[in-house]
Amino acid sequence: MSEQDNHITGNCVCGAVSYQIEGAPLFTAQCCCSDCQKTSGADHVTLSFFNQDQIAIKGDTASYEVTADSGNVMTRHFCPTCGGRLFGTNTGRPGVISVTVGSMNNVDGVKPMVAVYTQGKRPWDVLNEDLVMHEKGAPAKK
Ligand SMILES: [Zn+2]
Ligand SMILES: [Zn+2]
Repeated sequence: MSEQDNHITGNCVCGAVSYQIEGAPLFTAQCCCSDCQKTSGADHVTLSFFNQDQIAIKGDTASYEVTADSGNVMTRHFCPTCGGRLFGTNTGRPGVISVTVGSMNNVDGVKPMVAVYTQGKRPWDVLNEDLVMHEKGAPAKK
């Protein structure tokens, strides 16, 4: 337990796309928005955000763009073979990439701090009370 030399690794279900990350996330959020629900099939998705130069990706993803309610273009990347959702970029956060925590093989240094789009939370979905809750997106910062 010295200093943190995190090497988060992850991959999609079929393994065609994999990645390795240097260092800790900028932040981690649980998102209950309907796009996350529909793209994942789950009640919410946990996402860690990194600077793009922290991550090395192997394999090609397919992607799908949507315009978020902020007006920014959100691009989600997924494996074209198995459909596993992996990464996201947003024109409102240049140089930053989000990674689905569910695709990670280890979660060293990952800890959700906020929940966003909680207005879309399913009635039975219990979020950790320690999270800072935002009904919509988190206020823009940094
Ligand atoms: Zn795959
Ligand atoms: Zn979402």
